[in-house]
Amino acid sequence: MRTLALLFMFAAALGSQPSFAQESQPTAKQPSALAGTDSPEALREHVPVLPAVRAKYWNIDPAVGYGMKAFGNGVYALCDNGWQSAFLVTDAGVIVFDAPASYGKHIPEAVAKVTNKPIKMLVYSHIHKDHIGGSVAFRNIPGLQIIALDTVSDFLKEMNDPNRLIPTVTFNSAKTVKLGGKTVELTRHNYHSNEGDLFIYVPEAKFLMAVDSVTSGYVPFQDFDLSTNLHQYLKMFDEILAYKFDNFIGGHLTDTGTRKDVEITKEYTNDVYQTVKRIHNGLNERAFDAEIAKTIGPDNEFLIFKALLDKVTRDSVAELEPRWINRLAGVDVWLPSHVRAALIYVRWDDKE
Ligand SMILES: [Zn+2]
Repeated sequence: MRTLALLFMFAAALGSQPSFAQESQPTAKQPSALAGTDSPEALREHVPVLPAVRAKYWNIDPAVGYGMKAFGNGVYALCDNGWQSAFLVTDAGVIVFDAPASYGKHIPEAVAKVTNKPIKMLVYSHIHKDHIGGSVAFRNIPGLQIIALDTVSDFLKEMNDPNRLIPTVTFNSAKTVKLGGKTVELTRHNYHSNEGDLFIYVPEAKFLMAVDSVTSGYVPFQDFDLSTNLHQYLKMFDEILAYKFDNFIGGHLTDTGTRKDVEITKEYTNDVYQTVKRIHNGLNERAFDAEIAKTIGPDNEFLIFKALLDKVTRDSVAELEPRWINRLAGVDVWLPSHVRAALIYVRWDDKE
């Protein structure tokens, strides 16, 4: 026995197969969500965008740079297949919701295509420059009010970014804006950005905008849309669904949404959370750590802990991917990051 074991070790050290070893088995194909992006071969392991999602891409003239869609009651959506924003036309002027860096400079001309009323207000959903970094194009609009949360305004004053104009009207938790007989309800939420996020609601149009929440047709972006507060993110779906709306804007990619898009993203997010929680809490950590220590000894605690986090991630991805790969686009791209985000929440914030 001892000789055999020594022979095996020796052969392994040389990187060759001992002559009595079985033919090497092909390694089981890992889920495509664990494929990399660092080589053409790794990139080809990923799946294409779901055809049903691809069919909904906006048809955008590159010379124009954006597309526009009327939602009725004065609400228009803008999109360049990467970012989304909106505006509301009233008898007394126009209220613009966000000015993305990518096409913000075109928003005044987009508004002028459907009304000759002036732009009176610009509302910021949150601080991120990809959504409001095009506001600089509004700097010469006379009397423009820029409306944002007070914490958003504090951040932007400190940042002093020439591309993000400083708000002129701020509030802390909720504000009702009235212009030309129309109403916009702005409410603070905390699902995404440290400085707060707004739900923007136009009741007459049954239109709701909650930026960086749900990406219709797709799983959320990395780490549940870069959420800095997964506890609030998990509650966000019911907060959205409490509103009466027919049209929804989540701020990104290639389709605007409906209640169904919010519901399926809620189901996905809860499935990721519950699966990670079950697998993490079901693991016998003492036994797992002892097994890892057999190879590397007990000293390298960071490495032992990383092995545990990696195992929960791999097992969770392997279980979740088949359930979701054909229901939402981008599962293979971002599922591991969602599992990691849920794992941080489960291990450090959640109860057992
Ligand atoms: Zn954002």
